[in-house]
Amino acid sequence: MFDKILIANRGEIALRVLRACKELGIATVAVHSTADDDAMHVRLADESVCIGPPPAKDSYLNIPALLAACEITGADAVHPGYGFLSENARFAEILAEHNVHFIGPKPEHIRLMGDKIEAKRTAKRLGLAVVPGSEAAVASEEEASRLAADFGFPLLIKAAAGGGGRGMKVARSQPELASALATARAEAKAAFGYDALYLEKYLEAPRHIEIQVLGDGNGRAIHLGERDCSLQRRHQKLLEEGPSPALNAGERDDIGEKVADAMRSLHYLGAGTVEFLHQDGQFYFIEMNTRIQVEHPVTEMITDIDLVLEQIRVAAGAELLLEQKDVRFHGHAIECRINAENPVSFRPSPGRILHYHTPGGLGIRVDSAAYQGYEIPPYYDSLVGKLIVHGKTRTECLMRLKRALDEFVIDGIDTTLPLFRALVREQDIVDGDYHIHWLQDFLARAVLEE
Ligand code: ADP
Repeated sequence: MFDKILIANRGEIALRVLRACKELGIATVAVHSTADDDAMHVRLADESVCIGPPPAKDSYLNIPALLAACEITGADAVHPGYGFLSENARFAEILAEHNVHFIGPKPEHIRLMGDKIEAKRTAKRLGLAVVPGSEAAVASEEEASRLAADFGFPLLIKAAAGGGGRGMKVARSQPELASALATARAEAKAAFGYDALYLEKYLEAPRHIEIQVLGDGNGRAIHLGERDCSLQRRHQKLLEEGPSPALNAGERDDIGEKVADAMRSLHYLGAGTVEFLHQDGQFYFIEMNTRIQVEHPVTEMITDIDLVLEQIRVAAGAELLLEQKDVRFHGHAIECRINAENPVSFRPSPGRILHYHTPGGLGIRVDSAAYQGYEIPPYYDSLVGKLIVHGKTRTECLMRLKRALDEFVIDGIDTTLPLFRALVREQDIVDGDYHIHWLQDFLARAVLEE
């Protein structure tokens, strides 16, 4: 096992990793930018190192500074959390060259899944259905037009390096195709420095259903069921739940086993998420994330398996002790991502939290690095915290979620709490009857109360 883990992240996920390390008796090193001097992960870690000024490129993405921090503190492993360097294969390789373990998948798998065209090819080879679309990068408008004739409109143009919904554009007709391609290409170039694009059939009312997996790199792999992340705004998830209201036990086992099999043949190491769109009873692979995800607590609540702890164990070379039959699902969990944003305009709202009170009681979990008096810096993502609620049934879970949202107080900044309070009272949400475009329609007609 590792002696000391450096956590190359900030916010709630840094705290989440720190908690797992403490429970395992592993010493922790926090790193931080000068904007995060007062951050909770810095306060709670055994040691901390300042790695640069506020912009992420100079601090949380600064590989030489992170290497120096490992060297100074003697950390023998790095947990990257999500975002930042978590899906950077080169970072994993550089750490290995310096005899530091990367707590994550093998670099070749990060690279493979980081190119979404390659990822789709691999998924197909491993027996998973993919969204119909181009099999390679689309070089020209003529080629795109030819493909459009095959698949029909509407089409979705996506970036091979995509992430966070960037470089994604819908084309509903031939005249829209040229401008959608140009916009997607410019966006991809600006966001990723790589502008390869591909086309997919645009699905009109699918659900986003993703399968959590764990592998030990030696051919053992299991699935931990699904999360339904269909409530999205601009392709960004806001609320996630598990199990999905759209699946029955047979469908769950079937897709889970297919995915676990694919991971076994890849010899996948660590935690990962295989994402699908689900429509008319069919699953279509869209991408795989080779890291821990924001919404991982949903799975933890319904399986009682600590995903971060398992990540650390298998990264240290331990065998996966869990077998598929050990994974038992119980009850229902829902997560709300509470962002420091105006709930109507979604404009970021950094600033000082004047009052902070988290809900409690049976089945309630709050993963957050916020506290009363904490000043949310303007440089990073706007996640203030995650409220995760568990119940024996979906109905009980929703009842608890309602009252937990009513108890939650975050004053001094705008947050998305009023949006969630309204959402849990919507009949479609109560019925579990929604798809990936539902929230956009809801937002167009919603009037929120403070
Ligand atoms: P990113 O890596 O940018 O998050 P994804 O491929 O994971 O991109 O897609 C993000 C979201 O975009 C999906 O959850 C879904 O809501 C939407 N999306 C992706 N592909 C399609 C498609 N073919 N048709 C309709 N919506 C899609």
